[in-house]
Amino acid sequence: MDLHAALEQYFHYPQFRPGQEIALRHVLQQQDALVVMPTGAGKSLIYQLSALLMDGTAIVFSPLIALMKDQVDGMNKRGIPATFINSSLSPDEQSQRQRGMVQGKYKLVLIAPERLRSPNFRAALASVQISMLVLDEAHCLSQWGHDFRPDYMNIAALRPQLQPKVTLALTATATPRTQVSIVDQLGMPEAQRFINGFNRSNLYFEVLPAASNTDKLKRVREYMREHGNEGGIIYAGTRANAEEVAAFVRDTCGLKAQHYHGAMEANARAQVQDLFMAGDLPIVVATNAFGMGIDRPDVRFVLHHTMPGSLEAYYQEAGRAGRDGLPARATLLQSAQDIVLHEHFIKNDAPTADELRRIHGMLQVDMPPTDSEIAQRLKVSDTKARVAIGLLSSAQGKLDDAAVSQIIQQVDQRREHKRSLLRTMIQYAQTDECRRAKILEYFGDAGDAAAAVCCDNCDEIASLKQPTEMRPAETRTERAALIVMDTIALMAQRNSGVGKGKLALILKGSQSEDVKYFTQNRNFGKFHELPVKEIESLISQLLNAGYLKQAGDERPVLQLTQRGDMILKARAAVNVKLRAPSERDANGAETTPVKRPRTEGNTIEVTRRLLDEGKTVEQVAAERQLTPGTIYTHCSSLIADGVLQIDRVLDSARQMAIRAAINTIGSANALAPIKAILPDYISYNEIRCMTEAWKREHGQGATITTISSPPVSPDDPIASATTFERLRKWRLERAKTDSVPPYVVFSDEALHGIVNAQPSKLEDLLSVRGVGQVKMERYGSEVLKVLKVLQDA
Ligand code: ADP
Ligand code: MG
Repeated sequence: MDLHAALEQYFHYPQFRPGQEIALRHVLQQQDALVVMPTGAGKSLIYQLSALLMDGTAIVFSPLIALMKDQVDGMNKRGIPATFINSSLSPDEQSQRQRGMVQGKYKLVLIAPERLRSPNFRAALASVQISMLVLDEAHCLSQWGHDFRPDYMNIAALRPQLQPKVTLALTATATPRTQVSIVDQLGMPEAQRFINGFNRSNLYFEVLPAASNTDKLKRVREYMREHGNEGGIIYAGTRANAEEVAAFVRDTCGLKAQHYHGAMEANARAQVQDLFMAGDLPIVVATNAFGMGIDRPDVRFVLHHTMPGSLEAYYQEAGRAGRDGLPARATLLQSAQDIVLHEHFIKNDAPTADELRRIHGMLQVDMPPTDSEIAQRLKVSDTKARVAIGLLSSAQGKLDDAAVSQIIQQVDQRREHKRSLLRTMIQYAQTDECRRAKILEYFGDAGDAAAAVCCDNCDEIASLKQPTEMRPAETRTERAALIVMDTIALMAQRNSGVGKGKLALILKGSQSEDVKYFTQNRNFGKFHELPVKEIESLISQLLNAGYLKQAGDERPVLQLTQRGDMILKARAAVNVKLRAPSERDANGAETTPVKRPRTEGNTIEVTRRLLDEGKTVEQVAAERQLTPGTIYTHCSSLIADGVLQIDRVLDSARQMAIRAAINTIGSANALAPIKAILPDYISYNEIRCMTEAWKREHGQGATITTISSPPVSPDDPIASATTFERLRKWRLERAKTDSVPPYVVFSDEALHGIVNAQPSKLEDLLSVRGVGQVKMERYGSEVLKVLKVLQDA
């Protein structure tokens, strides 16, 4: 049959989209294929039309149960006999459709992979005349995909028995490694791969640097001013982040926005999605949970507030912009903090040999604890516990050393894989070259890369070729900017480089050990009269304006961009700001806090006034009809500016707990790692207030260089040693009573921490690493008795 006629007849489309016809012809010749095309490119048509043109029934596996009904309705409307079988149907309905399938009533049957667990269904399948086996979302088959589903393995295992004439795997996201893994799992390594349609010619790609969280919000504000009215999606890194940014867009930018994340109630979530899809809600601020079935055509922008951990995740999310083919933007805010955060998660989610053994031990009981109970007991992330349990379950039987080291090998491989995914994301964010070309190269799409407007880098390259008017640097500030760039250029000549903090110390002429190798640099101490904070602000401005960039992953260093290089060579003026000397006292010390330019100033001032009247955050929120989250955002900004005391916001127990966590993590810059080791009831908002206060106490951007080892009491080592022994004895008894190993009660480190904290009441224990709310409640009063803080009743 003529393919074009069939397309016209069933689908009423005048022509095929790129990649559809060639894959279709291949499949119709009964040759296996893997099709990789981005979401919305039109993959379904390939299997729908080939199923129609072949004898028998196509069995289509998809994990997206929620979408099956719509898909089948769509096909039925076109006169295609198709159905779906999944758990959303009554058992009667399920068996009726299953009978229909066996009788050959349908050209296509959509199935959730879990169904293969049922022997009854497998038996039914055996008597179906199967035209083709289709695996939609085939990346679920690969351990390297971001969405591995063990049930997909059952499809692969069953394939030889089903004897389909042809097998077709489809996915929107698969790196070359994932592609190989998919065809290998399916036992069809010779399958042809069709990779197409990754070029979205109507999307404009850009990356905006943002040196800090405050800078990110500033960027969001500018962006909303320019594009906010057009409607789009903002992707945030965490749930709390999504709520916070949504509140910011509403309150500060004055736009209609709602948050969306996985912890919301199903109804509330559906409501936000419906409003957005109907066009009644212009902006959604979401975590990556917002995605499935989001095919609103007129999404004009996708702004990533936080960088995702891989380029495929990024592109899948960014690709939700401009489905209608009209111009749209994909914008990524880039900060070094995001990299640190991902590195932290990668490290943190990998179980150690010791943890594997301990978790294995916990599982050897009749009623094993749940993932999150294990996570809580061991004070590890839920992800880590889940990964460990998954790995352990595949290693059956005894956990000897060989088994452990085999698992550790897998852990290492996984970690390396995640690192390499992260690296490609970072490379995309940091490249000077065409971003579209980078994406197409990464996905292996050799097709056309044309676009009317391409990306920020292509614009930059074009504008550098234009003759620009440059004025020589004249003012003190303009010369200062050149000195910053000159210092960076000098280091690059020697193949060295530093980050923002160090560069500021070098220019300040600091005595710090950190910069002792740079005293010979000709600009060392050039800005000795400026506060370090102001030097850092100058560097940030140059970064944000695109004269400097950050390169490298774990410890990013500053480099000149092409534009920066050109300015430096021409000794030209750039537009940056330094405070006038009169704003500082004679010693150059700061007399007034650095004022951020902020249009939201008024609303923050109102919050400040109410807090000064002695109201709590909740009271202020209620009075102003804002969310407490927004008020907390105000508080952290006021604290950062040094006009609000942390005591006004947090009680001392919480302060202590968060301080201890900052010390453990070694930095107050990224919040998620701090949050991860704190009890759940301490919120991001509270942590942010504390970190801002901490940074003021320690100097902007300060990090702790030495992470304290289990501390010993400073004043009386002997007394503390005996206290420790007493606690240990108590722990042993308590462990016997509860029939658990002693470390489940408290680790040694926690006992040392308790000795050192010298608690005088229960809450003080929360400052100790390894003591959370649950342990405080369970063991706290006994511990205080051992310490003789509490008397025996
Ligand atoms: P994917 O599975 O690749 O994410 P779909 O198969 O759901 O994408 O298709 C996305 C949209 O594109 C659907 O609305 C579909 O009807 C439409 N579409 C597919 N092929 C064509 C075509 N040749 N011409 C016009 N529209 C098409
Ligand atoms: Mg699809």
